[in-house]
Amino acid sequence: MPSPLAHSAAAFGIYKVFRRYDSSGRSLFRIPLFFFWLLFFSLLPDIDAVLGVLSGNMYAYHNQASNSVFTALAASLFAGFIAFFFFKKKFQKWFFLCLLCYLMHIAMDFFTYGRGLMLFWPLTSRRFFPPFIIFYGLRWSKSVTSVAHLYTLLNETAVILFVSMIWALIRFIRLRKPSSA
Ligand SMILES: [Zn+2]
Repeated sequence: MPSPLAHSAAAFGIYKVFRRYDSSGRSLFRIPLFFFWLLFFSLLPDIDAVLGVLSGNMYAYHNQASNSVFTALAASLFAGFIAFFFFKKKFQKWFFLCLLCYLMHIAMDFFTYGRGLMLFWPLTSRRFFPPFIIFYGLRWSKSVTSVAHLYTLLNETAVILFVSMIWALIRFIRLRKPSSA
């Protein structure tokens, strides 16, 4: 899995694209509450890491059923229902936002060095592997002082910078395009 840094950056990207859907306008420490929700959904698939840390056995608990597209659907349905019944919000909006953040997380985990993802659990427990690797990933079995964590940080910073540059380039081209109207 990539570190929470990369997943948080993805949440920020999703926030930038969808911030106009923030109807509450509420904030916490001057940061929009809407961003915190997107961050929560973006980190949600790693909730099993908590069990891994508590039990001292990451391998047994982490990167299992929570990285399946069906778990993503179930979690998003749950988020939609909670939003609708408890907060009187639009079901579709919160279902879609949760699904987007959750699937983005799965996609990033998929393109990370590791033991593959159980993408279609519970239909099959088979692990699927990417055709190429983008993320070096968080090496949780290494000691805290391991140089591997530096590689993780450098790799993720490079990917974030690369995506930001592509984004800036697209914006630049769109702004320069003369409108025909
Ligand atoms: Zn993950």
